[in-house]
Amino acid sequence: MEKKSFDVLVIGGGPGGYVAAIRASQLGYKACVIEQDKLGGICLNWGCIPTKALLRSSEVYHLIQNSKKYGIEIEGTVKIDFKKVIERSREVSEQLSNGIKSLMKKNNIEVIYGYANLMGEQGVSVQVSAGSAIELTGKHIILATGARARILSNVPIDNKFVWDYKDAMVPSEIPQDLVIIGAGAIGIEYASFYNDMGSNVSVIEGSQRILMSEDEEISAIARKEFEKMGIKIITDAKVDGFKINNEKVHISVNGKIMECDKVISAAGVIPNTENIGIENTKIQLTDSRHVITNEWMETDEKGIYAIGDITQPPFLAHKASHEAVVCVEKIANLPGAHPIHKKNIPGCVYSRPQMASIGMTEKAAISEGYEINIGRFPFIGNGKAIAIGEPQGMIKTIFDKKTGEILGVHMIGAEVTELISNFAVAKTAELTDIDIIKSIFPHPTLSEMVHESVLASHKNAIHI
Ligand SMILES: Cc1cc2nc3c(=O)[nH]c(=O)nc-3n(C[C@H](O)[C@H](O)[C@H](O)COP(=O)(O)OP(=O)(O)OC[C@H]3O[C@@H](n4cnc5c(N)ncnc54)[C@H](O)[C@@H]3O)c2cc1C
Repeated sequence: MEKKSFDVLVIGGGPGGYVAAIRASQLGYKACVIEQDKLGGICLNWGCIPTKALLRSSEVYHLIQNSKKYGIEIEGTVKIDFKKVIERSREVSEQLSNGIKSLMKKNNIEVIYGYANLMGEQGVSVQVSAGSAIELTGKHIILATGARARILSNVPIDNKFVWDYKDAMVPSEIPQDLVIIGAGAIGIEYASFYNDMGSNVSVIEGSQRILMSEDEEISAIARKEFEKMGIKIITDAKVDGFKINNEKVHISVNGKIMECDKVISAAGVIPNTENIGIENTKIQLTDSRHVITNEWMETDEKGIYAIGDITQPPFLAHKASHEAVVCVEKIANLPGAHPIHKKNIPGCVYSRPQMASIGMTEKAAISEGYEINIGRFPFIGNGKAIAIGEPQGMIKTIFDKKTGEILGVHMIGAEVTELISNFAVAKTAELTDIDIIKSIFPHPTLSEMVHESVLASHKNAIHI
């Protein structure tokens, strides 16, 4: 059997794994990535990137339909070439996945295509083709095998009537009546896309509200906005029956039958921690089978690290990539290496309207015993928001009254997924409300609302 050895062996080529390999190579290590499918993982091939390409198409369609308000009249009917919409999304993914291939080459990282299995603290066997395996050793092994869709036992995915997130990304036509199970970020992004593309969308969610990880106030505003757009939302929902009849799905929710053409099952993800040889190590898993690590991404097996979606939440690409850097710099004992601080990880939802947040919700801050100052600033008070025709939305900032520490920030409205980075930097640098108040923001920009929301927490906002 062929044998090879490396300093850093990375299992999985997603945003966790490929970033770990690049950082390892930058620090002088001989690195290797083992990938069973395509470089870029779920994020580039079936997650973050292709969904954003789809959402761009639906935004453009929405803008064209509303172009009159900007003084632009379009004659004739505006048509969706859905095949082209999907093709564009796939091309964007392909381009980026190929880009990662080039980055691997540029950084002298060996990529081995095959299925990896841990054999102990230093060894990995890779099935490179049927009947052919190679054996690799690594002084350090980084597990980055990601996650896959959670399947609901009472609504089985058949890839025809019941789609998982991959099926929903490459359909041949727009479903007329669509039910989405799950109102987390993935379900809501699909609801926004398909609703803007003309489907009748219903979202059913088992919890009391949509987007449970968002601040309650933001989640309530979002629900109102989505309902205004015609999306039907059922919370506290229980699927109590399901059948397919005459090419239609009949799904019983809280005792009432809903009929639709397709269902998207967006009930979260589960970690890929089975069949990778974890049982051959001392690695510990949580009840939900996520790998337990410390803040340096070290597992209970010396020399083996875990990053990204196989570890504990949040399940986000930028968290995976940052954990990659954290663990490689720890391996190198780099001066300035820093552990991961989960309270500083922003989260975004790229629907229309967008949402973005960082840190604690108002409820969490209160239940942790903080005395808080809250600032709220509405988009309607911002010149740029009005000029670009996006006057709906709000920025809500939460501070520790005693110290001025940023506890949490929650936003809804146009481009908030870009605005949140202001607070990611401020929170990491431990800036206070006063530091932000002293900062000068360019005019006219949406970012002036960052300033105004903090001013509002001191009851000093200028434009409301
Ligand atoms: C529809 C959708 C939209 C999303 N949108 C966003 C978004 O907008 N922003 C965001 O931050 N996050 C988003 N996410 C989440 C994001 O995709 C994940 O958090 C991210 O991909 C996790 O990165 P990872 O490196 O941990 O794992 P992955 O990206 O899942 O990569 C893991 C890789 O490991 C490979 N692998 C698994 N097992 C083995 C093995 N035994 N041997 C070899 N290779 C193996 C897999 O083939 C895969 O390529 C989205 C997810 C979905 C499903």
